[in-house]
Amino acid sequence: MSDRLLCKAVSKSYFNGKHETKVLNELNLNVGSGELLAIVGSSGCGKSTFLHIAGVLDSPTSGEVIINDVNVHSLSDKERASFRNKHIGFIYQFHHLMMEFSAVENVAMPLLIRGVSPKEAKAAAEEMLSKVSLSHRYKHRPSELSGGERQRVAIARALVTNPSIVLADEPTGNLDFDTAEQIYTLIRELNATLGTSFVIVTHDLVLASKMDRQLTLTQGQLKPGSPKIDGSC
Ligand code: ADP
Repeated sequence: MSDRLLCKAVSKSYFNGKHETKVLNELNLNVGSGELLAIVGSSGCGKSTFLHIAGVLDSPTSGEVIINDVNVHSLSDKERASFRNKHIGFIYQFHHLMMEFSAVENVAMPLLIRGVSPKEAKAAAEEMLSKVSLSHRYKHRPSELSGGERQRVAIARALVTNPSIVLADEPTGNLDFDTAEQIYTLIRELNATLGTSFVIVTHDLVLASKMDRQLTLTQGQLKPGSPKIDGSC
C-alpha cells in the first residue's frame, strides 16, 4: 500500500498574546492508498486542528505534511488551493452546504471551480448524488433535506472530484444513531468501490471500530488504543 498522506513530526501551537497552547506535538502518521482510518480522542485534544492541517486548511507550526508525494505546506497559497481541489475531499461536521443552492449545484461546485463546463459538472454531480442514493433529491435545497440527506450531499461534494483522500470531521456528529450507521456504511461502500482513502475523526468508538484502523489522539500524538475514560487528553 503506497502512502497517500504522510505526517512527519507535525507540531501545532496557538499563541494568544503571551500564552502558548501546544495542541500537536511531533505527530507522525501514514495513511495508505484505499485505507479507512478512524481517529478518536476526547473533546479538545486537537482532532479538528490535526484534520485542518492534514487538509491544508491550516499550517503546522513545524513538521511536514506530504500528500501524494507533495510537501503541501511548501506550496504557495494559489498552488495550495489548486492542490486541495484536485487531491483532497473534506467533509465538515455541519456539512457547510450553500443553503441558497440545490443539492446538484452544491455537488457541482468543486468541479466548476476547477474549470469544468457547467454541463459536465452537472452530469458528474448527478452521477455522484445517485451513488449516495439521492437521485430523487437533485433539485432540493439543503433546507428541504433531512440531516442524513444533507450529510450525504456533503459526502457527494467531497467525492465528486475523485480525490485520492477524503478527510471527515465528525461526519455523523449531529445525526441520530441509525442515520450515523447509514452514513458510515455509505463511506465504507464508497471506499471499497472508488478506492478513496478516508481519515475520519469521530468521538463515536463503536462506529470507529468498524473502520480498518483506529488511532487515538492523545498528548498531541496519534497512538493505538482507546481514549482515556476520564475524557482527558
Ligand atoms: P477537538 O477537535 O479534538 O475537539 P480542537 O482541535 O478543536 O479539538 O482544539 C484543540 C485545542 O486547541 C483546544 O484546547 C482548543 O481550545 C485549542 N484551540 C483550537 N483553535 C484555537 C485557536 N484558534 N486559538 C487558540 N486555541 C485554539
